[in-house]
Amino acid sequence: MRATVMYGAGDVRVENVPDAKIIEPTDALLVVTRAAICGSDLWPYKKMENSETGRRMGHEFIGIVEAVGADVRKIKVGDLVAAPFAWSDGTCIYCQEGLQTSCLHGGFWGGTKLDGGQGEAVRVPQADGTLVPLPVGKDHALMPSLLTLTDVMATGHHAAISAKVGPGKTVAVVGGGAVGLCGVIAAKRLGAEQIILLDRHTDRINLAKEFGATDIVSKRGEEAIARVRELTKGLGVQSVLECVGYDESTRTALGIVRPGGAVGRVGVPQDEVMPAAQPTFFSNITIAGGPAPARAYIEELLPDVLEGRIEPGRVFDWAGKLDQVPDGYRAMNAREAIKAIIEF
Ligand SMILES: [Zn+2]
Repeated sequence: MRATVMYGAGDVRVENVPDAKIIEPTDALLVVTRAAICGSDLWPYKKMENSETGRRMGHEFIGIVEAVGADVRKIKVGDLVAAPFAWSDGTCIYCQEGLQTSCLHGGFWGGTKLDGGQGEAVRVPQADGTLVPLPVGKDHALMPSLLTLTDVMATGHHAAISAKVGPGKTVAVVGGGAVGLCGVIAAKRLGAEQIILLDRHTDRINLAKEFGATDIVSKRGEEAIARVRELTKGLGVQSVLECVGYDESTRTALGIVRPGGAVGRVGVPQDEVMPAAQPTFFSNITIAGGPAPARAYIEELLPDVLEGRIEPGRVFDWAGKLDQVPDGYRAMNAREAIKAIIEF
C-alpha cells in the first residue's frame, strides 16, 4: 500500500510500505477515505533529523472498516468511522475519566511502529475504544467538518474548556491556524461575548470573523498585549486559548489574561520552561490544557456538525490526492494554505 513517510526536515515522501493488517484480536483494519495534514506535522517537517527508516505520518483520518479482530464487538465491517488522534481502550481509569490521551493501553498514530493516517489503510489498535461510527455516507458533504473532529475542532474545544470559556465571557485566541480558528468556533459555541483573535494573516482573519471573532489584534509581543488591554477596559480577558506553542505566543497569552482568568494551552510547547511564573502566580491565573481527548468530545460536537450549527471544515483550503501530500506540507509550511485535506 501507499503511505506518507517523513525522512527529515522538508523530506516527506509517499511510497510503498507493508500492507496494514490485523495483528491483535482487538484491532480493526481501516481503509482511509479522508485524511488531513496537521499543523503539528509541520514541527518534524521543520526540524526532524534525518532518519534512515523514516517516520509514518498522519493522525487525522476517517475510513471504512474492512476487517475486525476476533475480540472486536462494537465496530462492524463496513462502518464509516472517525479515528481520534490518540487510540485508546475506552475502559481504563483515564478513559473512564474522559482523558483518553492518557489511556493506559493507548498511544498515538504513526512513528516507526504504527500506521499513520496519511496512507491508504491503517491498523487500528483497541478498535472498540478508539473508533467512532459516523451516521453518513463516505462522500457526504460534511466530510471536511467531520474530519476536524479527529483533532483540530476537538483541540479548539479543549482549549476553550481548559480556559473556562462560558456565557458572557471575554476570550482571546492566540494564533489563527486551523486550531485557533476552531477555538473561535468553540468559544462562540460556548457563549463567549467578546472573542479577540491574535493573528496577522488575512485569510485566517477573514475566516475567524465569519466564525464569530469580534476583534482582531495583528500586533505581536508587548504591542499585542497593550492592544488587548485597550479592548478590555484595561483588564485583560477572562479566557485565553493558546494555539501556537512558541515562547512568544505563550508570553502573549500569559500577558493578556486578567487576574483570576484561565489559559488553555493546546499548542505543543516548543520550550521546556514556561515563562511568567511570578506574574501569573500573583494574579491567580489558572494554566491548563494539553493534548485534547478528542475521543471524549466527538459525541458532544457531532450533532452540531451534522445539523450545521458549526462548520469547522471550512478551515480546509487545500485539497489533493495521496500522491500530492508532499505539496500539501509545502503549502501549509509556506502559509499558502491553512489546512490540507487528502481525498482518496
Ligand atoms: Zn484507556
